[in-house]
Amino acid sequence: MPRALITGVTGQDGMYLSRLLLSKGYEVFGLVRGQNNPKLDVIRAWAPEVRVVTGDLLDQSSLLRALDVARPDEVYNLGAISFVAYSWDNAQLTSQVTGLGVLNMLEAIRLYAHDDASKVRFYQASSSEMFGRVQEVPQRETTLLWPRSPYGVAKVYGHYMTINYRESYGMHASSGILFNHESPLRGPEFVTRKISRAVARISLGLQDRVSLGNLDAKRDWGFAGDYVDAMWRMLQQDEASDYVVSTGETHPVREYLDIAFNHVGISDWEKHVHQDPQFLRPAEVDLLIGDSAKAREQLGWTPSVSFKHLVEMMVDADLDREKPNV
Ligand code: GDP
Repeated sequence: MPRALITGVTGQDGMYLSRLLLSKGYEVFGLVRGQNNPKLDVIRAWAPEVRVVTGDLLDQSSLLRALDVARPDEVYNLGAISFVAYSWDNAQLTSQVTGLGVLNMLEAIRLYAHDDASKVRFYQASSSEMFGRVQEVPQRETTLLWPRSPYGVAKVYGHYMTINYRESYGMHASSGILFNHESPLRGPEFVTRKISRAVARISLGLQDRVSLGNLDAKRDWGFAGDYVDAMWRMLQQDEASDYVVSTGETHPVREYLDIAFNHVGISDWEKHVHQDPQFLRPAEVDLLIGDSAKAREQLGWTPSVSFKHLVEMMVDADLDREKPNV
């Protein structure tokens, strides 16, 4: 039975990945922070077979202990402070967790597997936010990185550290440059879920409007369930490498709004949307669109959920959640 350790197991991707690995017969260990973490209940309800190990990306000795307990064949490092807007107000903490946390885990694996650094395969959750002020359209593995937020800068650090451990110690360390990926499990602070939840509530008469920032930002949005499959595929390759994972389509926030509101029968949605400068960012990533040809060719990966289907799936899930129980 293969064994996997997932950091960030209580987040959107951790939850989808844990179910995927369990379905493939893995024994899955999830690193969870702190005592009485309320997210523990979430993962227990979602995938009771996941074995919880306590630890923190900021505490390398706890990572070594977690490796000793889990004895993993594969480590998926999904744990991070992942909300770009928050990273401006908490830049040092974001750098420590999202950036240095990667080094802590890589070094823990190197110490744990001292005789053979390649015996534990490692996945690093890199991000399209690393492209920031994009230097090429579409963005691919070789595109120059130009991050535009403390979060993006921290992810660049983790990305290059992963490549360095691969090149320096022969570790099987891969980095997935994942473009935005969403689902009904997405945190409500991200724009897709913020909109799907508001649209559900507006259509049920529970609220009247939603306050948003830049509606012209464009993202390459895919379905998280598809993207965790790409992570797993990366670690099954003979050679570790870096892969862009994206749909290859880009859509403005405005179009997400249009599909979401139309799905609940509201076409004149502008009157429900208030633009509030508090949701604008000090620097914006205007356009992201990924070229995932390498992942498609080498990993045999393809996304299965269209943009329209994704939006409607998220609105339907929020309608279910928000409907009063009768
Ligand atoms: P990100 O790409 O990781 O930053 O994902 P987000 O979902 O947080 O943001 C995607 C885009 O939506 C960014 O360009 C934001 O500026 C834009 N956006 C517009 N209004 C909002 C809002 O109210 N909340 C968030 N989170 N993003 C917004």
